[in-house]
Parts: sequence; C-alpha cells; structure tokens
Amino acid sequence: MAVIIDGKQVARKIREELKKECDEIKTKGIRPKLAVIMVGNNPASKIYVRNKSKACEEIGIEYEEFLLEENIEQKELIELINKLNKDNNINGILLQSPIPSHLNINEALKAINYKKDVDGFTPSSVGKLVIGEDTFISCTPYGIIKLFEEYNIDLAGKNVVILGRSNIVGKPLIQCCLNKDATVTICHSKTQNIEQYTKNADVLISAIGKAKFVTKDMVKQGAVIIDVGINRDENGKIKGDVDFEEVEKVASYITPVPGGVGPMTVAMLMNNVIKATKEQNKEKSNL
Ligand code: NAP
Repeated sequence: MAVIIDGKQVARKIREELKKECDEIKTKGIRPKLAVIMVGNNPASKIYVRNKSKACEEIGIEYEEFLLEENIEQKELIELINKLNKDNNINGILLQSPIPSHLNINEALKAINYKKDVDGFTPSSVGKLVIGEDTFISCTPYGIIKLFEEYNIDLAGKNVVILGRSNIVGKPLIQCCLNKDATVTICHSKTQNIEQYTKNADVLISAIGKAKFVTKDMVKQGAVIIDVGINRDENGKIKGDVDFEEVEKVASYITPVPGGVGPMTVAMLMNNVIKATKEQNKEKSNL
C-alpha cells in the first residue's frame, strides 16, 4: 500500500511558519495585504476565494475582495488592476479564474505588476521561471514541488509524466520538474495511447479534471502519484482524477483528494504574498 501524502498537514506547517514571518513583518509597521479580483458569480470560484481569505486571516495577511459584474468590459478590469498596482498598501494581486469568455485573461494578467504577481501567471514570472531566475512560481506546481521535498522524493533522473497542459498547472510544472533534473513528458487530449506514457512514469501527475481517469492498469508498480484534479461525483463529493482506492495498491506514494494538493496551493499563495511584501519593502525596512 502506498504512503498517503498528507498535504493538509504539510500546508498547516507552512502556514504556521508564515504566520511567524508575518508577525515579524508587522513589527516593522508593515501590513501584508492581498487583493483578490473576482468577475461574475462562479460558485466554484467563491469556494476557492473563501479558502484563500480564511488562510489570510489565519496568518494575519489583510485581504480585500473586488467583485466585478459578469458583463463588465475589459477596460474596467484593466482600470481596476492599474489602480491596485499603484496602491502601496496592496502587496499581491490575484485575478480569480475563470473570468467570463468575453474578457481576455492574458491581457488582464499582463496588466498586473510583476512585483505583485502572487499567482505567478504574468509573462514576466513565467519567463523568469523558464530561464531559472528567482520569481513567483504558480501556486499549484510550487505546492507539488514542496510535497516532493517534504517527503524526500528526489526527481533527479526520474521519468515524470504530467497529464494536462494548462497555463496554470501543466506548463509551469514542466519547468519545476526540469529544475529538479527530471525527464519530463506532458500529455493532453490529443495524446495517442496515453497509457504508453503513464506506464513508464516514475512520477505521474494528473491535472485534467476527469474523475477516475487514472486507473490501476495505467500505473507502474511503485510510482509516485500526484492528483491535482478536483471533480464532483454524483453525490456532490469531491474526487480527484485518480481512482484512489485501486491505484494506492500499486503506488509508492499518493496524494488524496481532498487533502493533497489543494491545501498546498493555498499555502503557496500565502508564501508568495509574504515574499512579495518582503521584496517590496526590502530597502525601506531591511526585510
Ligand atoms: P484545464 O485548463 O481545463 O486543462 C485541462 C487539461 O487536461 C488540458 O490540457 C486538456 O488537454 C487535458 N485533458 C482533458 N481531457 C483529457 C484526456 N482525456 N486525456 C488527456 N488530457 C486531457 O484544467 P486546469 O485548470 O489545469 O485544471 C485541471 C484540474 O485540476 C481541474 O480538475 C481543476 O479543478 C484542478 N485544479 C486543482 C488545483 C488544486 O489546487 N488542487 C489547482 C488548479 C486546478 P487539451 O489542452 O488538449 O485540451
């Protein structure tokens, strides 16, 4: 049976450390603050945003939400981002996705000042990650790397196979795993014979959003399985992409859903807000 990777516990430990750092920052008269922009009324986004605000509260990060109407124009969204860019009391800006399809998310992300890009989605952050410079790393890939570190899972020389090529998970994960000296393969909806790749994976990371997509017969004995997927079953219960009950019998390590990658994503966002605050106040307050 596989070791179950306890993302909830690792995330709690990270939040405790961040709380100490946040207290220290406040002794210098600085109050870290995150601004979250939400457009429209997506129910899943509301849950994610609530988790983020709860984590901010626990750590002592100030939090402000900006709710925009579903039918706003791109110009209004950019104006708000520009206003938040200029506001010295705000250290991090997050644009909650998805946003309505009439808006251009890439243009909106480009407007965020890279110094406040705590989600790591701006071209500047992505480019720096690729060329190996210090930057904000997007929170889910960063959280997964932290789990590997915490469980002493060394990626060097391993075959890592990623399922899903989104800008927020799959693509930045390629770079994060490359930085750990893995050999990385990425699969997507056009990949033929996906099993031929997954069966060869020492580490298999699934981020596609389809319940029970990864079955036992797709997995190599002893593989490390990371499940990013968040899907609801017919009873409204949250499930990952992996058939957990079956796959845990052949894996060496496996993340549960919930309680695996999800809490790490929020913890790494908090990490990035503290990092942004420190960098913005480096000269002023010797942080
Ligand atoms: P996304 O933008 O919808 O991308 C899904 C990816 O999966 C696409 O690259 C797509 O391929 C690929 N895909 C879809 N069906 C496939 C199939 N049958 N075989 C192979 N690949 C397939 O998703 P996302 O935003 O990255 O999110 C993925 C999942 O992770 C969702 O369930 C989401 O809720 C979850 N998520 C969890 C966290 C967390 O913190 N735990 C964070 C972010 C996302 P194409 O590119 O070819 O269309």
